[in-house]
Amino acid sequence: MDKNYDVIIVGGGPAGLYAAYKIEKSFKVIIFEKDDVIGEPILCAEGISTNTLKLFFKDGDHPFIRNIYSKLKVKYKDLEANIDIPGRGLIIDRSKFEKYIANKVKEENNFEIKTGSFVVDAKVENDHVKVILENGEEYFGKILIIADGVESYLPNKVGINSVCNLVDMYSCYQQIIHDPNVKDEEIIFDFTPSVAPGGYLWVFPRGNNEANFGLGITSSLDCEKPYKLLNEYREKNYPNAKILREFPGCVSVNQLSRMYTDRVMVLGDSARAADPITGGGIDNALRTANFAAIVANSVLKGKDFSARRISQYQELVEKDNSYSIKKQYQLREMLLKMSEEEKDQFFTSAINLFDGKRIQSSDFELHSFKSSFKAIGMVINFMGSLLKDKYLLKIIMRLMWK
Ligand SMILES: Cc1cc2nc3c(=O)[nH]c(=O)nc-3n(C[C@H](O)[C@H](O)[C@H](O)COP(=O)(O)OP(=O)(O)OC[C@H]3O[C@@H](n4cnc5c(N)ncnc54)[C@H](O)[C@@H]3O)c2cc1C
Repeated sequence: MDKNYDVIIVGGGPAGLYAAYKIEKSFKVIIFEKDDVIGEPILCAEGISTNTLKLFFKDGDHPFIRNIYSKLKVKYKDLEANIDIPGRGLIIDRSKFEKYIANKVKEENNFEIKTGSFVVDAKVENDHVKVILENGEEYFGKILIIADGVESYLPNKVGINSVCNLVDMYSCYQQIIHDPNVKDEEIIFDFTPSVAPGGYLWVFPRGNNEANFGLGITSSLDCEKPYKLLNEYREKNYPNAKILREFPGCVSVNQLSRMYTDRVMVLGDSARAADPITGGGIDNALRTANFAAIVANSVLKGKDFSARRISQYQELVEKDNSYSIKKQYQLREMLLKMSEEEKDQFFTSAINLFDGKRIQSSDFELHSFKSSFKAIGMVINFMGSLLKDKYLLKIIMRLMWK
C-alpha cells in the first residue's frame, strides 16, 4: 500500500476537516482522526454566528442547525441586559456539522479519512514529513497540517512551542439539560464572579426546552471546581432540570506566536486560536483552515516547502484576526486583574450601554448604500452613548493604546 501523500492532516474536527475540504481535489490527502466516529463525542456548547455560516457554508441546506435564537441576556450579579439579536446566532449539532463536512471531503474531494487512528509522533525529515500511528504504521507527506485540538501535543514534536500557561486555559463543565424554564429563543451569559470566576456561565438553547448549560473558569484561579459551581447554579435556577448528558472540557487561548515551520501548519485549537473572551473556537478553526488550504494549494505547485514559504499562512491569519484577537486577549488580561469593585463598574457600564438595544446581522453587512448609512448611524449612536460613560471610554482608550 502506498503511504505517500501530498498532505497529511491530523485531527478530524472542524479545522482539519475544513482544511481538507478546501484543498484542491487533484492532490492526494489523508486525514487521521483518533476517535472511531467523526463528530463524536460532542464536547461543545455548539454556538456559532450566522456570519460564520454565511462565510464558510454559502450553499446548501445546512442540515446541522438545531436552533436559531433571537435574544441575548447578559447577567452580572443582579443586573441584566436584554438585547434583541434577530438572525445573529445559531446552535448547531456538532456531530451532524462535522459529518456534513466529512461527507464533502469524501464525496466531493475523494480524500481518505481514517478514523480510530491515533497519531503518536510526527517528524520533519529532509524532503518529507512523517507521522507514526499508535499501531506503528508510518505515513509520509509533503505537507503536514496539525489540527489535533485543545489537547494538542504534536506541534512540540516538530519544534513549534505550543505549551500553554494555566492562566490561558478555561476549565469547563457542561450539562445538556431539559427544563421548561429554558427559553428556546434566548441565549444567556452570566459573568458574575462568584458564578464563574475568571469566565462565564452559558445557557445555549437547543430547541424544545433543552440547553447546553455550562461554565468555564480561568484554570489558574484558586476556586471551586467547575462541576460544583455549575450544579449549585442549576439547583438554584433550574431546580427541576433533567440532565441528559454531562462532560468536562477545556479551552485554551493566546494564539501561538508561531503557527508553522518547514512543511507544517498548526490550525484551530491546536494553535490556541479560540476567542480569548468567549472561548468560542469554531469560527477561528474554520478561518485558519481556510488559510492553511490556500497556502497548501499554492505551495504544492512549487518546490519550496521551507518555513519562509509556509509563513504566508501566519501572515494571512494575522491579517485577518490578529488585531481583534490581540485586543480580546488584552481585555481578558485587564478583566482578570480588575478588583471586584472595578468589575462592578465595568459590567454596570456595559450592561447600561447595551440593555434594550437591537443588533441585527444585516447591520454589519455593508452591501448597499442604505445599509452603509445604517451601520454608520449605529456606530455614531453607540459612540454617543459611550462618550456619556467615562469608565467604559477609559477602558477602551487603554485597550487602544496598549
Ligand atoms: C465545553 C466547551 C464548550 C464550547 N462551546 C463552544 C461554542 O459554543 N462555540 C464555539 O465556537 N466553540 C466552542 N468551544 C470550542 C470549540 O469546541 C473548539 O474551538 C473547536 O472544536 C476547535 O476545533 P478544532 O478542529 O481546532 O479542534 P477539535 O474540535 O478539538 O478537533 C480536534 C480533533 O483531533 C482529534 N485528535 C486529537 N489528537 C489526535 C491525534 N494525536 N491523532 C489523531 N486525531 C487526534 C480529536 O479527536 C478531534 O476530533 C467549546 C469548547 C468546550 C470545551
